[in-house]
Amino acid sequence: MRPDRIVLRLGELTLKGRNRHRFEKQVMEQVKRVLRPFPSIAYRKEFGRIVLLTGGQDVEALMDPLRKVFGITSLSPVFASALEQEAIERTALQVMQALPAPPRTFKVNVRRANKRFPLDSQEMNRRIGGHVLRAFADLKVDVREPEVELKIELREEEALIYCSRVEGAGGFPVGSNGKAMLMLSGGIDSPVAGYLAMRQGLRLEAVHFHSYPFTSERSQQKVKDLTEKLSAYSGPIKLHMVPFTEVQTKIHQAYHKNLLITLLRRAMMRIAAKLAASSEAGAIVTGESLGQVASQTLGSMNAIGQVVQLPLIRPLVCMDKQSIIDIAESIDTYALSILPYEDCCTLFLPPSPSTNPNVNVIESIEQSMPWLEAELDEAVRRTETVWIGDDRNKTNDPFASLF
Ligand code: ATP
Ligand code: MG
Repeated sequence: MRPDRIVLRLGELTLKGRNRHRFEKQVMEQVKRVLRPFPSIAYRKEFGRIVLLTGGQDVEALMDPLRKVFGITSLSPVFASALEQEAIERTALQVMQALPAPPRTFKVNVRRANKRFPLDSQEMNRRIGGHVLRAFADLKVDVREPEVELKIELREEEALIYCSRVEGAGGFPVGSNGKAMLMLSGGIDSPVAGYLAMRQGLRLEAVHFHSYPFTSERSQQKVKDLTEKLSAYSGPIKLHMVPFTEVQTKIHQAYHKNLLITLLRRAMMRIAAKLAASSEAGAIVTGESLGQVASQTLGSMNAIGQVVQLPLIRPLVCMDKQSIIDIAESIDTYALSILPYEDCCTLFLPPSPSTNPNVNVIESIEQSMPWLEAELDEAVRRTETVWIGDDRNKTNDPFASLF
């Protein structure tokens, strides 16, 4: 016996009125996106939730993509039955029998949304409970802490019966809080930062700086693969590949002491801001985490962040490394991130990078580089932009029709 419905509960209890309506519409769009490969599925929109009619489709195959849709707090595979006492009892028993192991305790929880159903919920609880108890020798009722809660919803047109509830991705639907530019390296942190930003309702574009031919094509492929992993949560992502070799080499030729890293980071940040402006992104997201490396002291973050006007979002700033790694594993980016391909930032490393760069000094060094702005613009001009994700290689904006 297969579940024939999936109930998706939509989150953010605090949402009211028009906001809730918009939120639910946006979740629905994402649900339709991830289920595009399964055209036989039908949808029923209810207050605060979506019911999927699975049309005989294997529920397991649907759960995985659905668990990546932000805005869904929990999901339940559900069995539908006709609104008749006998049919409900039979299905309830089958649901209990289909559990992976027979439970020792359970309780029945009937909700009678359909007031025309002849028996009230107390009476139904008793009858279904009795029916199940007669079929399982060692089963007992425990209303306080049952191992299994058998839920029965008496709806207008059918009864829904289930006992499992799986956690969803939570958060806000992608794009509901605007768009941001993610600075995506090949490391562990920035993909996690991107994931958290998306979960907060930001649609992402990503920018990656490479130093080809000093860094390999494989390291660029790794970033594309990471972007692909992130796109499972949002649909296709625009990835900007910035050739950083010229900028990097020129800065290094002009200055190669302890402030080099800060200068390079400021250059990256300025380019990211230029790309954000032309993409109408309202923020820049980075994977910085306080204290991790020399460039991530407060002093360094300040010196780097000062070159942009846009809000800088650093979702990991107060997280410890292990928690970041745990998320990286759960979103399946960790194994890719630890592949040992070189990063552009490992070129030309100064022997002892400054941990507390002086902004006045940095600004005067930059003033001695009158060519800098033109070099940054040239890097932007030579940036290659690709769409990564299920509709990859599209030249048109796949979201144009949605907004
Ligand atoms: P990550 O694991 O994300 O690489 P990290 O701990 O290695 O982070 P840094 O190398 O100091 O830290 O980078 C800090 C942040 O700067 C990164 O999280 C990322 O947002 C951005 N960044 C670093 N290198 C690049 C790059 N080559 N392209 C795009 N963004 C980058
Ligand atoms: Mg890094």
